Amino acid sequence: MEAQNQQKIEFKGRIISVQPRSNVWRYRLDNRTHSLTGYNLFLSGEVNGVVCDFSVAISEKQQQKHSFHIGDEIKGTAWTKKYPKLEYADYYRAGSFKKIIAATLQDIECVSPWTGEVPSLSVYEWRGCRMLDSRRWKSKCFTCKWACMANVAIEYNWGVSQKFRFESFCYGPKNCKLYSMGKPRAVPYKDCGSDYDCGWLDEICTERRGEDE
Ligand code: SF4
Repeated sequence: MEAQNQQKIEFKGRIISVQPRSNVWRYRLDNRTHSLTGYNLFLSGEVNGVVCDFSVAISEKQQQKHSFHIGDEIKGTAWTKKYPKLEYADYYRAGSFKKIIAATLQDIECVSPWTGEVPSLSVYEWRGCRMLDSRRWKSKCFTCKWACMANVAIEYNWGVSQKFRFESFCYGPKNCKLYSMGKPRAVPYKDCGSDYDCGWLDEICTERRGEDE
């Protein structure tokens, strides 16, 4: 895979969503493994003085230290991606954080989308997730702490080559009224066409939880 030259950037902006960040490994229909690696901050603001919406990957330790949540105005530095196909967030290796304005936390836990403080990664790991329609992720679910856009690697030719893409998932209650799985997802394998993930892996991933958890 071709590496890109990296550049350090300075950013500032208002947080519009905080979501878990994860890597997913798929192998045909036998395996879908989720590894949580931190959080993605989605911001509306400026990168190197240019107005834009953008996302920054941060570690769990950084989230624990700063308690970022929707409405905070922050600034910091980060780097452009070395391998853009592997990372959904626009920037990573973030640091030098400063909270310019801390929003008053409104822990609204009674209706979806849930915009309260994000839990630790161990909570997401315990809960497991279901596929979430990508249009729903972009719209009604975007501010929800249970929404996730994952970096996905598909084992295409075992030990030889992988394919990469991004997929949206939901760690939220199974009975959330906003939930929509979307279309089954093709999982290709060399010389064998594609199998389709139609949802039964979701049941396995979330089997510890009841409908309203
Ligand atoms: S479907 Fe999932 S991500 Fe969307 S609002 Fe409900 S719990 Fe949140």
